[in-house]
Amino acid sequence: LPGASVLRPQPVDIAGLLPTPGAEADKYRRGVLAVRAGSDRFRGAAVLAVGGALRTGVGMVRYGGPERVVDQVLARWPETVAAVLDPRQSTDLEPGRVAAVVVGPGRGTDPGDADELDAVLDSDVPVLVDADGLTLMSGETGRDLADRVRERSAPTLLTPHAGELARLLGDVTREDVEVRRLEHARRAARSFGCAVLLKGSTTVIAHPDGPSVVNPTGTPLLASAGTGDVLSGAVGALLASGVPVVEAALCGAYLHGRAAELVHGGAPVSASDLLHGLPLALAEVRADG
Ligand code: AMP
Ligand code: MG
Repeated sequence: LPGASVLRPQPVDIAGLLPTPGAEADKYRRGVLAVRAGSDRFRGAAVLAVGGALRTGVGMVRYGGPERVVDQVLARWPETVAAVLDPRQSTDLEPGRVAAVVVGPGRGTDPGDADELDAVLDSDVPVLVDADGLTLMSGETGRDLADRVRERSAPTLLTPHAGELARLLGDVTREDVEVRRLEHARRAARSFGCAVLLKGSTTVIAHPDGPSVVNPTGTPLLASAGTGDVLSGAVGALLASGVPVVEAALCGAYLHGRAAELVHGGAPVSASDLLHGLPLALAEVRADG
């Protein structure tokens, strides 16, 4: 596999891929993102994923989840269009009203969560699956959902860290994934027939057709709770804006990494800080591009 083509993009490449709303823009045409993240146990995941999307730029974020999570999302991001969903209704995606879906961060792995993931995968819009969504797709019990991903015609993006990728593949350890990141990301892309963004020391993006991409930005300071939730929202916003899946993954990872580098100039960053770093990263990319 070394030798297969690998792209290492620069800021000017990123600038050219980002959507620029024209004069005719309205919030629906800019893109509506549905976020299915967070649960009573992990309320912050919803706040961070919604924030990552809003700070990357999208026409509207629709959030659906438990009442206490809805309250918390609205307290931090009042611009969210939020609705309380109980797990039995959580399959209602309002078809035609969303351009992309993020599912999984902090969501849980109960049977209701599996039903929700199944319904999301049944939609014909781009879907980003992260965290608990990836757990639901793993192993023997995840076989049906994994097949659902393989059968999709709309784009799918899986965003595992090394441990999640090892569980998805089922035949390697986390350590194996860490040392041969590109190889295992490519295997997963082929196996699931979709795009895979493997997070960690170096973030790589693989797709069954076309070259793999290595993200040049980021810092080990990103290794803290909640940063992956921000990434899922950022990439989701770009998917909802109509950016193709590999490009959306790359731009989201690039901006997320750059946000961490810029926000405190090398001092520790929390996931919430990234939400302040994203506008700095976007401004820099636009100036360089
Ligand atoms: P998660 O594993 O979902 O919490 O996401 C963690 C985020 O931090 C991802 O964007 C990773 O790429 C990033 N990250 C984790 N560890 C490192 C590291 N050692 N160097 C750079 N980025 C990292
Ligand atoms: Mg995570």
